[in-house]
Amino acid sequence: MTMRVADLRLDHARALLRRSGVDVPVAGDVPTAQELQAIIDALCELSERDALTGLPNRRAFLGRLAQELDRSSRAGETALLLMLDIDHFKSVNDRHGHLAGDAVLRAVARTLQEQVRPMDTVARLGGEEYGIVLPNCGPGAGVMLAERLRQAVAQQAIALPDGRSALHVTVSIGGAYSPAWVRSTVEHWLERADRQLYEAKRQGRNRVMIEAVPVSDVSAEEKQALFAWSDPDGLIIDPADAV
Ligand code: GH3
Ligand code: MG
Ligand code: MG
Repeated sequence: MTMRVADLRLDHARALLRRSGVDVPVAGDVPTAQELQAIIDALCELSERDALTGLPNRRAFLGRLAQELDRSSRAGETALLLMLDIDHFKSVNDRHGHLAGDAVLRAVARTLQEQVRPMDTVARLGGEEYGIVLPNCGPGAGVMLAERLRQAVAQQAIALPDGRSALHVTVSIGGAYSPAWVRSTVEHWLERADRQLYEAKRQGRNRVMIEAVPVSDVSAEEKQALFAWSDPDGLIIDPADAV
């Protein structure tokens, strides 16, 4: 039995979108192709957002990291990955309640977002953990920026839902640069940044630890090979010959 557009049940999808503050209007009883496309686009967008903070979620962030890794391996341009974790966040929930905890998560998200460049991506990776990827970011700028983020969070007075009190939190930050001219994996990059975050926690929290830039000693031939496409027989094809 073939399904017709008229048989599609879009109520659930549209209700989900409406609850998330997105209204995709459908004029008639049967949605047009454009209306269907708009619903699909809105669902895709929603699937990459964190509901509490509105930031990109882990899924979206992993996609951005893969893009940056690819770019830096080909262009020799380093990107910085930062992993941030709120210090002693459990005690915020324990002392002030879960709603206050949620308010803190939103406020920290806003502060981080305000501090970075439009080309950078701030994401909530889950719980009280955030990730930031900064394309085209060298060692000097990276350390300064991470330090600025740490200070901005520490200085922020966060208003609690009771409307009467405010509190301060701190973050620990771990960072690692993408390896230029080297093929690597997102998992490995995350692991390196995570190791630095662990170290920042271990050394007392409210601090930044960034791994030294990996030195890659790559010859011109090896760089050329990174730009080339491999064919199934294992031959390297120069892109200039392939077009
Ligand atoms: P550390 O300094 O070592 O990071 O300690 P911590 O207390 O921040 O870390 P821990 O992992 O012990 O606690 C994290 C807490 O975050 C526990 C969990 O209940 C809380 N949490 C996770 N997601 C949410 C959320 O969406 N809202 C709220 N309010 N709390 C959350
Ligand atoms: Mg944590
Ligand atoms: Mg924590």
